[in-house]
Amino acid sequence: MAFENLEVWFVTGAQLLYGGDVVVAVDAHSNEIVKGLNDSGNLPVKVVYKGTVNSSAEVTATLKAANNEEKCIGVITWMHTFSPAKMWIHGLQELRKPLLHFCTQYNKEILWDSIDMDFMNLNQSAHGDREFGHIIARMRKNRKIVVGHWQDAEAQKKIATWMRVSAAWADAQDMLIIRFGDQMNNVAVTDGDKVDAEMRLGYHVDYYPIADLVAVQNEVTDQDIANLVAVYEKEYDLAENCKEGGKDRSQVIEAARAEIALRRFLQKKEAKAFTTNFDDLEGIDQLPGLASQRLMAEGYGFGAEGDWKTAALYRTMWYMGQGLPKGCSFLEDYTLHFDGENSAILQAHMLEVCPLIAEHKPKLEVHPLGIGGKNDPARLVFTSKEGEGVAATIVDMGNRFRMIVNKVDCIKSKELPKLPVASALWIPQPNFEVGAAAWIMAGGTHHSSFSYDLTLEYLEDYAEIAGIEMIVIDNHTTLSEFKKELRMNEVYYMLNKALC
Ligand code: MN
Repeated sequence: MAFENLEVWFVTGAQLLYGGDVVVAVDAHSNEIVKGLNDSGNLPVKVVYKGTVNSSAEVTATLKAANNEEKCIGVITWMHTFSPAKMWIHGLQELRKPLLHFCTQYNKEILWDSIDMDFMNLNQSAHGDREFGHIIARMRKNRKIVVGHWQDAEAQKKIATWMRVSAAWADAQDMLIIRFGDQMNNVAVTDGDKVDAEMRLGYHVDYYPIADLVAVQNEVTDQDIANLVAVYEKEYDLAENCKEGGKDRSQVIEAARAEIALRRFLQKKEAKAFTTNFDDLEGIDQLPGLASQRLMAEGYGFGAEGDWKTAALYRTMWYMGQGLPKGCSFLEDYTLHFDGENSAILQAHMLEVCPLIAEHKPKLEVHPLGIGGKNDPARLVFTSKEGEGVAATIVDMGNRFRMIVNKVDCIKSKELPKLPVASALWIPQPNFEVGAAAWIMAGGTHHSSFSYDLTLEYLEDYAEIAGIEMIVIDNHTTLSEFKKELRMNEVYYMLNKALC
């Protein structure tokens, strides 16, 4: 139900050369295709047929209306007849919503025995979609192209992916990211140009002093806390020292107080993501690790130590993946495990790993942190599920944003009795040495946003809509080709900037 108030517009291209009967037939076919897509059960967002456009004026009016309709997160175009593409120029210049060019055809197979010239005057997608494709290529307009029959589940799934990404794109366009404290001092990779990020990605990043959060925290009542601790007791296994009467029970209570305050603060500001800094917690009892873990699971973007880009990317990846089964998390390259073919990277953080990726019911524990000079924090401890996933980051290269995506294989992790944090253990593709070297060569962060449910296609669609660079590290990666790609991209984006 996450996407139920959104819609994608379906616009059919044609022209008036072929007479009124053809216009009526095009309309009927378009309605049938849209109904078929909606009834397929494969699409998360409702498709709305917005009519057939037969002239430049109609194209422009329809695409301008798409810009102005808040519910509309993207436009699918399909050419039923040959729609001379100069009529699309002005409309496409206006269009600011994501575009999907659906190269399909009403009939599935060639009707060998009955096909005649009347049929050909009506059904011209094969050449119509090429004419339309040309003008988009000529205008250097970003789009996704899906080729396939409209009743084919594979084609529908490609549209579904683009829909989820387009919904997340719309969600990002008014994304407020709240930072308590700044970047961890001196850290380069998590910083970047916030003005450019707002222009290019939609992110709006605001700073609030921790004192503002403390003021909200002071309003939290004992009853609020009791209610939340009851939720903890239901959802997690509490360590002995965390149970009622346990010696660290008070730390669980303080963790609940901070969580309630943080959630209220984010709700009041209508923020979608936040960052914390363990050096800036005056008036807060402990690093709000449990709060960050639980808020991530609700969809709030989170980045540690002021990392606003990863906070935003987590929110976007969570948004795309709503309703999908395996989950996502903020993670950090924590420590390396050299073991031949099984060499792997332990993924964790001081506290803040999202319980959506847990393989079993998390344990709620309180232990010392040894950094930040605060009281011992509560945290959820668990190991992650096994399976393939994607780790992504966005870095600021000075003249552009670069998204780096690594396909990774999560393997069985182990308990860490002396290091009580939640963790995942993964082997980067194509293997530990090449995967890690490529990530480092591309300038990737030590933080990433990870998802089991999303595939490269989602992040490709996202980078295409945003118009940012995307670098993939997967089983096809070799370091020599990777290095060439980075160098080629350097030239491409330099020229691209000069041309724009
Ligand atoms: Mn960190």
